[in-house]
Amino acid sequence: MALSIETKCIHLEKQEQASETDTNSACSHYGSISFPIYQTATYAHPGVGKSTGFDYSRLQNPTREQLEKLVCALENGIDAFALSTGMAAITLLMELFKPGDHLIIDSDLYGGTIRLFDNVSVKNGIKFSRANCSQDNIEALITSDTKAIFIETPTNPMMNVTDISAVAKIAKRHNILLIVDNTFMSPYFQTPLDLGADVVVHSGTKFLAGHNDTLAGFIIIKRPELQEKLRFLIKTTGSGLAPFDSWLVLRGIKTLALRMEKAQASAMKIAQWLKTQKAVTSVIYPGLEEHPGHKIMKKQARGFGSMVTFRANSVEKALSILEKVHLIKYAESLGGVETLITYPTTQTHADVPEELRLKNGITPETLRLSVGIENTEDIIADLEQALR
Ligand SMILES: *Cc1c(COP(=O)(O)O)cnc(C)c1O
Repeated sequence: MALSIETKCIHLEKQEQASETDTNSACSHYGSISFPIYQTATYAHPGVGKSTGFDYSRLQNPTREQLEKLVCALENGIDAFALSTGMAAITLLMELFKPGDHLIIDSDLYGGTIRLFDNVSVKNGIKFSRANCSQDNIEALITSDTKAIFIETPTNPMMNVTDISAVAKIAKRHNILLIVDNTFMSPYFQTPLDLGADVVVHSGTKFLAGHNDTLAGFIIIKRPELQEKLRFLIKTTGSGLAPFDSWLVLRGIKTLALRMEKAQASAMKIAQWLKTQKAVTSVIYPGLEEHPGHKIMKKQARGFGSMVTFRANSVEKALSILEKVHLIKYAESLGGVETLITYPTTQTHADVPEELRLKNGITPETLRLSVGIENTEDIIADLEQALR
C-alpha cells in the first residue's frame, strides 16, 4: 500500500524497501533518526575508475539527494532537483529553451519571475505572451515556436485559479510543456503532475522549508527526456542546494502536513472575519465560496492554502495597517510558521511595470497575508487593532 503524504513527509520509504546500499540507510550506521548533513565538497574514490556514487558536491551530495528523493515522492514525479532558491530553479528551467523559443506565461506571477522573464530571458532571445490563464483562450496564443506554458495557481498575489487539467490537455495537444509553480499550495494540497503537468517548480523557501530560516528551490519532472538535461545543467551551472540548507528543508517538511492544516484553518477564519470589517473592501481567498476559482480548487486541490489577499478602503489605511501590525510581521515572503503581511506594490511586485500591476488588480490598497500557525484569535486580535 502506498504511504499517505503525511507519512511520506516523515518516512521517505517504507522500511522494508530501504536497502543497504541506499543512501537512505546511511543513517542506519548509528541508528540516527535524522538524516546526516554531509558537509563535504568532495569524495575519495575507492580506486581508479571507481566512485562511491558521489564525486563532487556541485554534482550531487547525499543530503541533497535525500531531499530530492523526498520532494520527488511528495510531488509524484520521476526526478527532482534541489536548487539554492526558487529563482535559481526557474532560471535553470529557462536554460532548457533557446533563442526564438516562445512561452505563454500567466500575467499574474510572482514579481521575481516576471523580472527574470522581462530582463534576463528576453535578453537571451526567449519570447513571451502574457495571458490571464484562468480565463483567456491560451490555445489561440500557441505558435510553431511555442515550447511551454508557465502558470501559478492560485497566482501570487491575486489568487486566480487555473484549471490545471484543462491547460494540460492543450499542452499535450500541441506537444509543449506545462510548467506549474506550485509554491502556494505545496504538494500537501496540490500535485500538478497528477493532473497532467510536465514540470513543477517551487520556492522551497516558503511552505516546504516552512520556518523563514532558509532559501531553497525545486524542479520536479514527469518527462524522462528532461532528466539528463537538467542533471547536466545543475552540474554545469552550479546552483544546487548546499548540504546544511538541504537538511533544514528535510526537517521543515517533517511538519508540512500539520503546518498546512493549521494555517489553512486559520486563513479560512481570518478571511471570513476580514469580510465583516468596514476598513476592508474585498477579500480574495479561494476557500470562500464566492471566489471565482472555488469550484476548480475543490476539484484539483485538497485544500485552499493559507494565502489571503485583501484590499483596504484607502491607500492610507493599507499603509497604516502595515505600520500598526505587531504580532504579524510586515515582511516579504510567505509560507512560514510566522504570519507575515506584504505590500505587493513596493515589495514582491515592485519591479512589475505599474501598468501590468494595475491590470492584474494589484492596486495600492492591496495587501497580502501569509497566515502562520500562531493561535488564530491572537492573529485576529492583532489585525483588529491594526485596522482600527
Ligand atoms: C517566493 C516565490 C518564488 C521565488 O522563490 P525564492 O526562493 O524567493 O527565490 C517563486 N515563485 C513564487 C510563487 C514565490 O512565492
